[in-house]
This record gives sequence, C-alpha cells and structure tokens, in this order.
Amino acid sequence: MSNCLFCKILSKELPGKIFYEDDLCIAFDDINPQAPVHVLIVPREHIPTLNDLNEGHRDLLGHLCMVVTKIAGMKKIKDPGFRMVINCNPAGGQMVYHLHIHVMGGRQMSWPPG
Ligand code: AMP
Ligand code: ZN
Repeated sequence: MSNCLFCKILSKELPGKIFYEDDLCIAFDDINPQAPVHVLIVPREHIPTLNDLNEGHRDLLGHLCMVVTKIAGMKKIKDPGFRMVINCNPAGGQMVYHLHIHVMGGRQMSWPPG
C-alpha cells in the first residue's frame, strides 16, 4: 500500500530500527515505547486489521506467534514475562492500519489495560 507507514518501513523507504527479518515479517522498535522493551512485529503482507484475516493466513499467524517468543528471548523478557497485544480498529486503539503485534516487557504490566 503506497501510503501505509509500515509498508514504507518494510520497503526501507522510511527508516526503522529493524533488528529481525524473515520471509514473512520484520520486527523493529516502537518509536514511542510504552515499556523498556517495545517491539512491533509486522507481516510483509499488507493486512489492515485483525478483521481482515482469512483461512489463508493461518500459517502466517502461527509464524508470527513463534516470532513473538523468539524476539522475547532475544530481548531477555521471555522468562520474566511480557505482553503481546494486537489493537483492532478505533475502539481497540489501533492507529496504524497495517496489522502488527506489540511485544512489551521489561517492567511489571498492570491489568486492566487503559
Ligand atoms: P497501534 O495503535 O496498535 O496501531 O500501534 C501503532 C504503533 O506504531 C504505536 O505504538 C506507535 O508508537 C508506533 N509507530 C508509529 N510510527 C512509527 C515509526 N515510524 N516507527 C516505529 N513505530 C512507530
Ligand atoms: Zn501496509
């Protein structure tokens, strides 16, 4: 998508602190971190929201979850614990309409979230 922020980071048209890449996704640091570790995992495919997933995305979703734990390990938050979040649409707090997983850790998380 030509005017999508995360597509532009994927294509390197815009800078991002990308520290993990594979054939299906990339991961980079959130520009406005809400925790000492705050990473975004972004599929290469432009999928606007969780609501746009279909049966063909099963393998991709499984892969993204495996990447979450891989990155949690890389960032040393796997054992202490961390939070994985996907915001969906305005009421869910979604700001960028290219599906992404937030991985946050390095501090105690509270519940319920804001
Ligand atoms: P969401 O509200 O779930 O759509 O989350 C969007 C996230 O993207 C927010 O946490 C922003 O801080 C983050 N973000 C926005 N622009 C950038 C950027 N250029 N590089 C990295 N993260 C960004
Ligand atoms: Zn996109």
